[in-house]
Amino acid sequence: MHELSIASAIVAIAERHAAGRRVTAVEVSVGHLRQVVPDSLAFAFELVAEGTVIEGAELVLHEVPAAGRCRACATDGPLTAFPLHCAACGSLDVEVIRGEELLVDSLELEEEEMAHGC
Ligand SMILES: [Zn+2]
Repeated sequence: MHELSIASAIVAIAERHAAGRRVTAVEVSVGHLRQVVPDSLAFAFELVAEGTVIEGAELVLHEVPAAGRCRACATDGPLTAFPLHCAACGSLDVEVIRGEELLVDSLELEEEEMAHGC
């Protein structure tokens, strides 16, 4: 399951930054191109977090829209459909500039807040 490996990565990052403190919420930015199903990710996250300091924490997902730069016409634009193509000229020769991220934005800890975990 695709979401399970993403959830594992999120929990690993959160655990490292929590350094033993209890985590109440984890905010994550996920690029659209990762094609994450939010419900599946929340479920996987719960599974992976079990028995760690992240257990019971809320997973807050921010989806990052995909964007690319066309190598044919040099237009920057949104990438909304597969196969990824330039919205201006239809070329498939696009460089992805956004939409592949998987970032832990912040952790909410039981005692104090820590912004920008990474
Ligand atoms: Zn183009």
